[in-house]
Amino acid sequence: MQSFAEAGVPLIATLPLQNLERLAQESSGRQSDLIVNWQAVAELRAGSTGLMDIWLHLTAGTCLPLTCQRCMGAVQTPLQVDQWYRFVATEDIAMAEDDASEEDLLVLTPQLDLLAVLEDELLMALPLVPMHDECPDLPAFSAGVIDLPGNMEGKPNPFAALARLKKN
Ligand SMILES: [Zn+2]
Repeated sequence: MQSFAEAGVPLIATLPLQNLERLAQESSGRQSDLIVNWQAVAELRAGSTGLMDIWLHLTAGTCLPLTCQRCMGAVQTPLQVDQWYRFVATEDIAMAEDDASEEDLLVLTPQLDLLAVLEDELLMALPLVPMHDECPDLPAFSAGVIDLPGNMEGKPNPFAALARLKKN
């Protein structure tokens, strides 16, 4: 990471969604060939102690087909990540400095899994309730949509309503 930061060359990559298993689950197997574009660039900045800190800027973007919670159809949801991290040497330092830092802190370890960090950010960028602004095609048996005369029950039974439609 040190040499990566000294070089200052951005790492630009694309990643199949399938490689991000937790994120792929959110799209329920739709568009399994989806690609996530991401970029990481590191730089050295003088820290408060005079030593150089390593900073990392992670950006990513994709458009994930999520399940609309109204019509259960696919709703294309753009996801963007734009996050700065500062590397610290140990977990203890990260715990101690986290509250005072606007940027996120990462512990610098040789096993740092950048893709796991990326996937966490994308998961956090997911909307709580994915939904179309306007659902394209509400299924005919959605509760509340059919207003059949003579259907006086408070809660229309969608299957009864359907059966009635067929009889007519
Ligand atoms: Zn919808």
